Amino acid sequence: MTNPLHDALVAPLADRAAPVLTDAGGATLTGAALHAATMAFAGALDDLGLRPGDRMAVQADKSPAALALYLAALTTGVVFLPLNTAYTADEVAYFVENAGAALMVGDPAKAAALAPIAARFGARFETLDGAGQGTLATAAGTAAPRTAATPRGPADLAAILYTSGTTGRSKGAMLTQSNLLSNAQVLVRAWRFTAADVLLHALPIFHTHGLFVATNVSLLSGGAMIFLPGFKAGQVIDLLPGATAMMGVPTFYTRLLDEPRFDRALTAHMRLFTSGSAPLLAETHVRFEDRTGHRILERYGMTETNMTTSNPYDGERRAGTVGPALPGVELKITDPATGAPVPRGEPGMIEVRGPNVFAGYWQMPEKTAEELRPDGFFLTGDIGTEDAEGYVTIVGRQKDLVITGGFNVYPKEIELLLDEQPGVLESAVVGVPHPDFGEAVVAVVVPAPGARPDPAALAAALAVSLAKFKQPKHIAILPELPRNTMGKVQKALLRRDLAHLFVPAKA
Ligand code: AMP
Repeated sequence: MTNPLHDALVAPLADRAAPVLTDAGGATLTGAALHAATMAFAGALDDLGLRPGDRMAVQADKSPAALALYLAALTTGVVFLPLNTAYTADEVAYFVENAGAALMVGDPAKAAALAPIAARFGARFETLDGAGQGTLATAAGTAAPRTAATPRGPADLAAILYTSGTTGRSKGAMLTQSNLLSNAQVLVRAWRFTAADVLLHALPIFHTHGLFVATNVSLLSGGAMIFLPGFKAGQVIDLLPGATAMMGVPTFYTRLLDEPRFDRALTAHMRLFTSGSAPLLAETHVRFEDRTGHRILERYGMTETNMTTSNPYDGERRAGTVGPALPGVELKITDPATGAPVPRGEPGMIEVRGPNVFAGYWQMPEKTAEELRPDGFFLTGDIGTEDAEGYVTIVGRQKDLVITGGFNVYPKEIELLLDEQPGVLESAVVGVPHPDFGEAVVAVVVPAPGARPDPAALAAALAVSLAKFKQPKHIAILPELPRNTMGKVQKALLRRDLAHLFVPAKA
């Protein structure tokens, strides 16, 4: 028996004398060295008594060692559970308990807060810092390295990634060997990754985008990565000449466009820029092309489904759309109330089925049953439309739908109109409690640099093209929208901050 992910991602590294990882200072790690680090960590996990199927929660800064630890989990069959480095100890406690983690790996600087949590839930505690040092690294230095991978099958669990959980508690999405491998294979082909590619990797590796989309695709193709602890526009510009491809969230691209050095000459050698995890404004897509001559390839996916749609590599990359379903992925748009397909072009729930779709939520059978149909279609919670050529446009999250006076309002429709107004950089529309209408449509507008848009003028402009019930009952001007690390606008925060516009706060 084999271990598909180890065989595809780790084993080929053993013979690679060429660098696979380069850091910001130009220091490199060869494939053979990354392989050796992986097998050393695998040996340490054995020594700690971890068995295949045990969960390992890891809250570690991004580093080559953290990457090797992920690969060691794949190799040993230990289920990898990465945690956002911004989570507080209290938040970490939930994941360690919920997942029944056998081992918790954390930053040595947080050991005083994290070790008691591990102890409380019966997990071992080891440390690893951003420089690759800590008790786990020391253990890897003395353990007998693994010489072979633990046999695993396609349906075996490889990782549990907790959803960001903006509503209710976060859920652990169970991802199997074949979920991850099949998606990486599809993306390597779709985006033409080869051993000649150098991917500029500035995404976090606790999230599906940086961990699976970026890392797995690069490793599977036999290419190399410029592996950065985080995104800094100036540093990315300095290092871009050594890259052939870059994967980013939309904020990476808007920040690069703020830099005059980011231009056609700097990017002329680049093969591909991709964007995902949050909507890329059509305006950003156009500005990027004007500045660089490159059309950003926007794709769409989520923790539970891996990547599901992508604009084409060859063929038209349409601004404002996330492209057609990837090969092997079935996608349909349905009426959220009945589950029946809606007429083409109408908005509805995006449902997807394929080898990429997760195995369910960890120990939450009711949640799994609510979102994963018996026939294998997953209800993404995203509302979208599909055009005659299969291009999908995301209209918003179902939970962001505003129901005002009994009418459904999709925020995206209003946001697109606001974004077109002079002096508007971007906008977000949410529903807030209203005594008469249930919810009221409220818009938040971020001015373009130097501009001072007038809410009354914006309201008048919207009134020309929007039915009365869709027109915002209030337009607030804010310097910026609240975003998380993946560039997603935190509408829950906006709803909270604007909750008392129409209903007084209870004393
Ligand atoms: P996560 O599970 O954290 O990756 O979040 C997945 C969600 O991010 C999806 O359900 C979408 O709502 C959103 N998302 C991902 N990619 C895109 C995209 N290209 N455009 C718009 N929304 C996106």
